Amino acid sequence: MEFGKFGGQFVPGPILVAVKEVEDAYNKYKDDPEFLEEFAFYLKEYANRPSLLYEAKNMTKNLGGAKIFLKREDLNHTGAHKINNVLGQALLAKRMGKTKLIAETGAGQHGVATATAAALFGMDCEIHMGAVDVIKQSLNVYRMELLGAKVVAVEAGLKTLKEAVDSALMKWSTELDKTFYLIGSVVGPHPYPTMVRNFQKVIGKEIKEQLAQKEKRLPDYVIACAGGGSNAMGAFYEFIEDKHVKLVGVEAAGKGLNTKEHAATMTLGQDGVIHGMNTRVLLEDNGDISPVHSISAGLDYPGIGPEHAYLQEIKRVKYVSATDEEAVLAFEYLSKVEGIIPAIESAHAVAYAMKLAPTLSQDQVIVINLSGRGDKDVRQIARYRNRKLID
Ligand SMILES: *Cc1c(COP(=O)(O)O)cnc(C)c1O
Repeated sequence: MEFGKFGGQFVPGPILVAVKEVEDAYNKYKDDPEFLEEFAFYLKEYANRPSLLYEAKNMTKNLGGAKIFLKREDLNHTGAHKINNVLGQALLAKRMGKTKLIAETGAGQHGVATATAAALFGMDCEIHMGAVDVIKQSLNVYRMELLGAKVVAVEAGLKTLKEAVDSALMKWSTELDKTFYLIGSVVGPHPYPTMVRNFQKVIGKEIKEQLAQKEKRLPDYVIACAGGGSNAMGAFYEFIEDKHVKLVGVEAAGKGLNTKEHAATMTLGQDGVIHGMNTRVLLEDNGDISPVHSISAGLDYPGIGPEHAYLQEIKRVKYVSATDEEAVLAFEYLSKVEGIIPAIESAHAVAYAMKLAPTLSQDQVIVINLSGRGDKDVRQIARYRNRKLID
C-alpha cells in the first residue's frame, strides 16, 4: 500500500486496467520538466496563483491570541482550491491522448471545476449527477452546461452521489480509449490520492515561502477543513517533515457527534474499503456505508483520503470537528470581522481557529487554509437563519 496499510486499488478488472493506464502515465509525467512547467503556467496565468497569504489583523486582535493568516484559495479562478487539481489531471489526460473528461459530482462543485478545465483545453466533458442532486443544484447544472459539459441525471437507487459514481465508472469502462476519469479529491484507487495531493501541494509550498517572507519563520499551526481531504493534504504536505508545525484537519460534526447526522470519518470511523481505497470509513453495524450529513456539501463524505488515515495513525496530523452551527457562526464572523465571506466548508477550519487562537500566545502563528469563497453558500445560510429571500 501507498500509505502504511491504507490506499490500494480495490476496483473490478476492467476498471483496474484503466486505473493502471493512469498510473503508468502519471509515473511517466510526474517528474517531466515540460509537464511540470505547463502545469505551473496554467496555475499562474489561468488560476491566478500564487494565492495571497493575508494577515487577518482584525481577527487576530478580536480573538486576542495567536497571529492569524488566511491562505486565500478563495481568490483562485472559480473560487476554490479545486481548480489546481483539475488543471493537473486535464493536462495529464491530454498527454495520454484522451479527448474527453468524465466525472461525478454531488453538489456540483467538482463538476463545475472539471467542466472549466474541459472548456479551457477544448475537451468533451460528461458529468454524472444523481437526479435528486440535479434538482437541488440546478444553478450548478446550468453552470456546467454553460461551460459546454453534458450533465447526466442518474436515476438509480437514492439518486445521489453514490449512484453518480457507479454510473460514471460504468460509462468510463465502455470508452476507455478516449476518456479520462477525473477525481475531485485525494480519494479513489492509487494513483489518484498521490496524484491529487501532488497537484494540490502548491498550497503549502506557497504558505511556507510567503510566511518566511512576512514573518521569517514557520507557522505553529496549519488548519484546514477535510471532506475527501484535498485542500488539507495540499496545505499540510510541505510541512510533514517540519515536526514542530502542528497540522489540524477539521471534519464536519454536522448536528453533533452524538447524533447520526455528521460526517466525522476520522473521529468516529473504522478501517474499510470505499471508492477503490482502504481508508477510514463511517460504517453501520451491518457493515454498510453510513448515510452522512453536513451543512456543507463539500464535507458530506463518509470516507477520507488514505493519506489522512495514515497521518492520523502515525499521529502526525490531529483531526477535530466542527458542527453545522459552529461553522455558520464562523461564516458570519469572518464576513463581519474581515469582510471575507468564506465557503461553508472553509468556515469549519475558521471555527476551530476561533477556539484555538485565544489559548495561544501572541508570538504564535496560525495559518487557516481558506479553501473557497462563500458566494455559493449565501442562499443556504440565509435559509438556515430563517432569513427570507425573494425568488
Ligand atoms: C470541495 C471543497 C472542499 C472539500 O474537499 P476537500 O477534498 O476535502 O478539500 C472544501 N472546501 C471547498 C471550498 C470545496 O469546494
